[in-house]
Amino acid sequence: MFYTSTRNNSIKITASQAILKGLSDEGGLFVPEEFPKLSVDLETLADMSYKEVAYIVMKDFLSDFTEEELKYCIDNAYDSKFDTEEIAPLVEAEGTYYLELFHGKTIAFKDMALSILPYLLTTAAKKNDFHKEIVILTATSGDTGKAALAGFADVKGTRIMVFYPKGGVSKIQELQMLTQQEKNTCVYGVKGNFDDCQTAVKELFNDEALKKEMDEKGFAFSSANSINIGRLVPQVAYYVYAYAKLVKEDRILPGEKINFCVPTGNFGNILAGFYAKNMGLPINKLICASNENKVLFDFFKTGEYDKNRDFVLTKSPSMDILISSNLERLIYLLMDRDSSKLASLMKSLKENGSYNVKKELEAFNDTFVGEYSDWSDSSKKIHDLYEDTGYVIDTHTAVAAAALDKYVHDTKDHTKTVVVSTASPFKFGPAVMSAIDKKYEGKDALKLLDELSKIANVEKPNAIKEILSLPIKAENVCEIKEMKACLKKELNMNN
Ligand SMILES: *Cc1c(COP(=O)(O)O)cnc(C)c1O
Repeated sequence: MFYTSTRNNSIKITASQAILKGLSDEGGLFVPEEFPKLSVDLETLADMSYKEVAYIVMKDFLSDFTEEELKYCIDNAYDSKFDTEEIAPLVEAEGTYYLELFHGKTIAFKDMALSILPYLLTTAAKKNDFHKEIVILTATSGDTGKAALAGFADVKGTRIMVFYPKGGVSKIQELQMLTQQEKNTCVYGVKGNFDDCQTAVKELFNDEALKKEMDEKGFAFSSANSINIGRLVPQVAYYVYAYAKLVKEDRILPGEKINFCVPTGNFGNILAGFYAKNMGLPINKLICASNENKVLFDFFKTGEYDKNRDFVLTKSPSMDILISSNLERLIYLLMDRDSSKLASLMKSLKENGSYNVKKELEAFNDTFVGEYSDWSDSSKKIHDLYEDTGYVIDTHTAVAAAALDKYVHDTKDHTKTVVVSTASPFKFGPAVMSAIDKKYEGKDALKLLDELSKIANVEKPNAIKEILSLPIKAENVCEIKEMKACLKKELNMNN
C-alpha cells in the first residue's frame, strides 16, 4: 500500500513516511492509492474486541508496519487510559444507536486517534531511521488540542505546540489545555478563529525557509491534525467495530446496510466512515450534520463550496469551521484521482473562497447527505432525549441527533442508524444543563458538573477531576502573525 498526494499524484510514499510528514510539500494531503477490502468477514468481526478490529482495519492501510509494530501501537493506545474495556460502547436510545467515542483520556472522540498517533509516529521514525526531534504543530477548535497534548506528553523525541482560537473554545476545553504540565508541551491562545489558526499552521508547514532553519537545528514538523493520515486510519476502525457490535447483538443481519450520522467540522470523522464503506462495510447513507456554520450542508445541496460567509461561534465549538480540510480527500476521489483538477479547485478555494463541483457530486449523492441543526433544535433534542430516556448527550452529538430527526422526517428513511457521539456531555456542561432546564442558565461551569453527574447518573470523568486539581501551566496569547515567532521562541531558535 502506497500513499500519494491529492495535489500531486506522481508522489508515492509508504504509510510510515506519510505519517511522519503529515502534509505533502506542495500542500496536498496524503491519500491511499487504493482501498483495501476487509480481510475478515462480518460474522468473524462480530466476535472481536476493539483492539482486534482495529488491527484488522489498520494493517492493510499501514502495510509497511510489521504485525508486531502495529500490535504494539494498538495495545498501548487502547488500554486503561479508556474508562471502559469496550473502548467505544454503543448505547441505544429511542431506536437510535449512539456510538460513544468519548471514553478516552480527554473525553472527546479525538482520543480514538490521538492516543495511537504518538505510537505510530515514533514507530514510523524508527522504521525510517529518522532522528530529528519531531515538532507537532496543531491548530485546534477545542478538542484536538487537549487530545494531542495528552497523547504526546513526555513522548521522547517529540515536542507539541497547540494553537487555539482565544474565546472560541469552551471554558472546560481551555482549562483542559492550560493544565497540561509536561515540559515538551505548550499552548497558545490566538486572536482569531479556528480557520485562521488552521490556515496559519498550514502556512508554517509550507514555509520553506522555516523548514530549512528547523532542519539545521535538528527539528522536523509533523501534524496531529486530521490532515495526518495517521489520524484518519485509526478512525476507520470504530465504524467497523460499531457495525460488528450491531451484528453481535442481533440488531442487524450481517450484510444489512446501516446509516451513520456524524457531527462534522473538519470532515475527518465522516471521511473515515467513507473509507470504511470503501473497504466493503455495508453503509447506506453517511449523514453529514453541521451546526450554524453549515457550509457542508450547502455544499451537499448545491455542489458549490462557499466559505464566504460569517463565522458563527456556537455551542458546538469543535464544529465551528468553514474550511473543512479533509473534504479535499473526498473531492480528490470525486475528481477521479486527478490531482491537477483537484489542485485547481483548491486554488480557487484559496483565491475566491469557493469552488463548484455540482456535476461530479451527483456520483456521491447516494452516499452523502447534508443536514444541519441550529442550537434551538439541538438544545430541544438534548432536553427531549433526557426527559424521555434519561440519556444525556453533548452539544455536538445533539447537532447530529437533531439533524437525523430532520432527515428521517423528510425522507422517511428508517434504516437503522448510528449517531456518532463525539464528546462527553461533561465537556460542555453549562450548555447541556441549560438545554435540560433553564434554571441552570448562567450558573458556574464547574459547579454545574456535580449537578450533571447527579441528574445523568454518571460519575464525573477523570478528565474533569483533573482540571479541578491541576494548576494552570502558562497562559500565552498571540496574534496570528506572531505564531511563527512564538514557535521559534519555544524551540529556542533565535540564537
Ligand atoms: C472534532 C470534533 C467534531 C468534528 O469532527 P471532524 O472530524 O473535524 O469533522 C465533532 N464533535 C466533536 C466533539 C469534536 O471534537
